[in-house]
Amino acid sequence: MDSSDAYWRKTLSPEAYAILRQRATERPHTGTYDQLWDKGVYQCLGCGLPLFYSNTKFDAGCGWPSFFQAIDSTRIRYLNDFELGYPRTEIRCARCDGHLGHVFNDGPPPTGLRFCLNSGALKFIPKHKDE
Ligand SMILES: [Zn+2]
Repeated sequence: MDSSDAYWRKTLSPEAYAILRQRATERPHTGTYDQLWDKGVYQCLGCGLPLFYSNTKFDAGCGWPSFFQAIDSTRIRYLNDFELGYPRTEIRCARCDGHLGHVFNDGPPPTGLRFCLNSGALKFIPKHKDE
């Protein structure tokens, strides 16, 4: 897989490039998926890796799509982030290293986690009615 900067600049929209490759954060309550509750799967926009199922999505009220569990924890890369002066855990796609958002310890049961995602880092694939 070509993962050079030139590849991403060519492939991604400017918004997606800013989030996935430059770790930008979209403004709260503006993302496409913040209040989407359809059934389906959320993939990494960069490489298509399925990351979250809609049945683990919950309304955290923070203005970003939030999930309490990843499809597979090995599909997420965790990094320490001190950018705001206090420790946070950045999450990236384990396959293409695209920035997704952060994970916090204030989520609901059963995990207690809140994966806080940028809509612009994700692609939603709706589930078909007969599935
Ligand atoms: Zn990816």
